[in-house]
Amino acid sequence: MTFIQTLSKILPKNLLITGKEDCAPFECDGLSAYRQKPLVVVLPETIKQIKQILKVCRGFKVPVVTRGAGTGLAGGALPLENSLVLGLSKLNQILEIDPLRQIARVQPGVRNLAISEAVAQYGLYYAPDPSSQIACSIGGNVAENSGGVHCLKYGLTVHNVQAITVLNALGETVTFDYRDEGIDLLALLNGSEGLLGIIIEITLKLRPQVAKAQVIMAGFDQVEMAAKAVSEVLRQGIIPAGMEMMDHFAIKAAEDFAKAGYPTSAQALILCEIDGDERQVKQGIEQVLTIFKAAQASVLKVSQNEAERLNLWKGRKSAFPAVGRLSPDYYCMDGTIPRHQLAFVLAEIARLSKKYHLAVANVFHAGDGNLHPLILYDANQGELEKAEAFGAEILSLSLKVGGTITGEHGVGIEKLGGMCEQFSEAELATFHAIKAVFDKSELLNPGKAIPTLHRCAELGQMHVHHNQLPFPHIERF
Ligand SMILES: Cc1cc2nc3c(=O)[nH]c(=O)nc-3n(C[C@H](O)[C@H](O)[C@H](O)COP(=O)(O)OP(=O)(O)OC[C@H]3O[C@@H](n4cnc5c(N)ncnc54)[C@H](O)[C@@H]3O)c2cc1C
Repeated sequence: MTFIQTLSKILPKNLLITGKEDCAPFECDGLSAYRQKPLVVVLPETIKQIKQILKVCRGFKVPVVTRGAGTGLAGGALPLENSLVLGLSKLNQILEIDPLRQIARVQPGVRNLAISEAVAQYGLYYAPDPSSQIACSIGGNVAENSGGVHCLKYGLTVHNVQAITVLNALGETVTFDYRDEGIDLLALLNGSEGLLGIIIEITLKLRPQVAKAQVIMAGFDQVEMAAKAVSEVLRQGIIPAGMEMMDHFAIKAAEDFAKAGYPTSAQALILCEIDGDERQVKQGIEQVLTIFKAAQASVLKVSQNEAERLNLWKGRKSAFPAVGRLSPDYYCMDGTIPRHQLAFVLAEIARLSKKYHLAVANVFHAGDGNLHPLILYDANQGELEKAEAFGAEILSLSLKVGGTITGEHGVGIEKLGGMCEQFSEAELATFHAIKAVFDKSELLNPGKAIPTLHRCAELGQMHVHHNQLPFPHIERF
């Protein structure tokens, strides 16, 4: 029996998708510049079916690419040629809500926003809020250790997960819990990008809804002033619920799209949200306003009610699609830098924009130093390679100023070159050794997230330590 015939014995027809056309919706994730049709897509409804699928894949040595909602921006869920795509969208049950313990136990295919909607009746919510939260799955959030506007104060996904149950490559069920002793394997699973196990259940920490939240919108005539203002807020020990920044290009695009009331002549815009009880919010808003005034903000506005607050956020939350309207294609980068380097890095990105003749809009989680330059290009004009080279330079720049190649979107296939630059041979070997412990036969999402040393040598994108040539024993091509 062939691979697909064997699968058809264990799955009903409607859960098994074959054929080039039917598989087309699964040929890419949010990084749509890269596409690959898989051999087959399966949409299991039960854990038992996943175990059976894994057994068949092991037998036929067919790699498994797990997929949540496919909104990832680094190609993590990009199919491999001759792979099986394991779509988990049908595992979308909220299994338990315990308002007393403030936890929810959920299946991986539940949408991020659906969790907060379901627990709102108990006065609770789930804090990490990627801008894709209306669509992305919680399994994908855990696999990417996703962030969001409110992660500055409430932590990333890893800080809001109490237990994860996975199926390993052998189909065995393993649970990692925050109460476990020893090495923190729960943290290891967060951000494991589908390489270490298939996440089948997650216990999430919930939080009481905040009594009040207000957002300040501040426009600045110079990026440097805004960057200084961000640093000053945090230096004074204020932890806003979120602190986001946009440059002139992004402000204009977001305003045209969302009509949020942004000052389109400003060179930089900050949205800073303060939450807490009545007194904390009043005091926080006053403190931040003082800082923004001292930093010479040219426009200041404080939301006066919930509708105004949501409207101010609407522009920021829809900045990606807003920029998407202006160009046939855009490439979203995800470097993270020390906050004090913000103004320098933005000036360098502007220089690179001229060098590559490609426009760029900067949207970022300023409080975390997490940049999202959106590089505008037209693939039909052959500009993809230029956009990739521009993106790679931004990641190198992030490393040069003491940052990292990803803040929240993960490595996937996109940042394999950047991994070579950021990590030494010994560090990459450690990543490979961890992968082998969980999945020796390289069944789960092989080739993603961790570059081989040969690839690093070929790319010439390498971690240079004490000016010594890295991987000297590896042949160069
Ligand atoms: C408009 C837009 C805005 C975005 N904003 C943000 C943002 O603010 N913050 C942020 O962090 N990200 C953001 N993202 C990126 C993306 O939404 C997140 O990475 C999200 O967590 C991906 O979830 P998903 O369900 O779509 O996962 P997918 O794209 O399907 O998969 C992502 C990775 O996780 C693995 N995976 C998925 N499910 C499982 C599972 N159950 N078990 C094991 N591995 C699994 C896949 O193999 C893949 O490697 C944005 C994306 C878009 C398109």
